[in-house]
Amino acid sequence: MMPLTELVLASHNAGKLKELQAMLGAHVRVRSIGEFSSVEPEETGLSFVENAILKARNAARISGLPALADDSGLAVDALGGAPGIYSARYADGRGDAANNAKLLETLKDVPDAERGAQFVCVLALLRHADDPLPILCEGLWRGSILHAPRGEQGFGYDPLFWVAERQCSSAELEAAEKNRISHRARAMALLKQRLGI
Ligand code: IMP
Repeated sequence: MMPLTELVLASHNAGKLKELQAMLGAHVRVRSIGEFSSVEPEETGLSFVENAILKARNAARISGLPALADDSGLAVDALGGAPGIYSARYADGRGDAANNAKLLETLKDVPDAERGAQFVCVLALLRHADDPLPILCEGLWRGSILHAPRGEQGFGYDPLFWVAERQCSSAELEAAEKNRISHRARAMALLKQRLGI
């Protein structure tokens, strides 16, 4: 593959953008899809992989640049992997605080031993809109769901995600530390390996 010097990130999610930019910054010029369009494609896929490809393809088409998309979410064991691909829309588009409140309410009778969960991240890189062979990389991050929010960093479900190896929630981790150990960091490490950067 030609060396990648510039790409567009197919996300309007400020939290994700910040993390992906921090992980890629030194290697590639990163443009935001917000420079090209404010319309978000409908995520009609039934898997992280499908939605990541759909978003990257849309961004490549709109920008004319290689495009990287992240489709990610929280999969809770006791809920059979929900909210999963619906993580951003769990409380019907009412935002992160409502999503977290709904999750706590849903899990209120679930004991500690059964509150395991994982963050999932799929990165899709398309060199152009008609790329028939997207690069796909996956990252998983195991943890468990707290009984109340903790911490102010990060975004989304971070205040509810207990990171046993650091004995804190992922919203209590410094940004740089989360960016070293998260699902997104793991997927990005694989992508960088694939790209040789
Ligand atoms: P997407 O934009 O459709 O991929 O939805 C991603 C959603 O998953 C976000 O809105 C968050 O709710 C959740 N999510 C993904 N990654 C993280 C993370 O690193 N921390 C907290 N929540 C996350």
